[in-house]
Amino acid sequence: MTSAPSLAGCPRWELPEIAFTGRSNAGKSSLINALTATKGLARTSKTPGRTRLLNFFAAGEYLALVDLPGYGYARMPEVEATKVAAMTSEYLDSRRNLIALVVVIDARRAPEREEFALVEAMAQSGRGILIAGTKCDKLKRSERATASRRLAQLSRDVILCSALDNEGLDDIRRRLLEWSRENAPHPRGAAAKES
Ligand code: GDP
Repeated sequence: MTSAPSLAGCPRWELPEIAFTGRSNAGKSSLINALTATKGLARTSKTPGRTRLLNFFAAGEYLALVDLPGYGYARMPEVEATKVAAMTSEYLDSRRNLIALVVVIDARRAPEREEFALVEAMAQSGRGILIAGTKCDKLKRSERATASRRLAQLSRDVILCSALDNEGLDDIRRRLLEWSRENAPHPRGAAAKES
């Protein structure tokens, strides 16, 4: 739908927003594309110039998905990385529309400092949080339990998923829908009728 360079530049609408964050290469773009069944959607956020923006996608009529800039790019200059991190935390701390955060992590990795910090900030605000452990097609059966346990250090809400074979995607979609329903704006006049 649109992109924004800062909190102040975010769209003025009433749509609830669910943000996706993840270390570069975690599989965030592939996951957003797979969830929305739209090839190339989140790739648009990877086009030069957009990797430093907040990118907004429509998910049906009543929900927006927000692709946050990735972190941990080896090649991003430090000054740039600091700017992007500040913009992201400003959005997460202060965006009124934000209802939940999906933290995307390669399920073969252990959570790191950035992920712990993100989850802690969100937990304090009382918003929803989900850990999406991607690329689970690469895990052997025996490795899955370990991966789930490791990710559960962040939050007990963990879903292992794969953009390759679609595992876990319906569970994630269900969670997004639940959040969206819980936060849907009341239809006009509903409050008056109920009272
Ligand atoms: P992003 O930087 O977090 O947006 O990561 P991408 O979505 O661009 O994915 C990074 C790499 O991981 C790409 O080579 C993808 O093809 C691969 N990848 C992403 N998701 C999966 C997955 O579920 N399974 C497997 N096997 N590879 C994946």
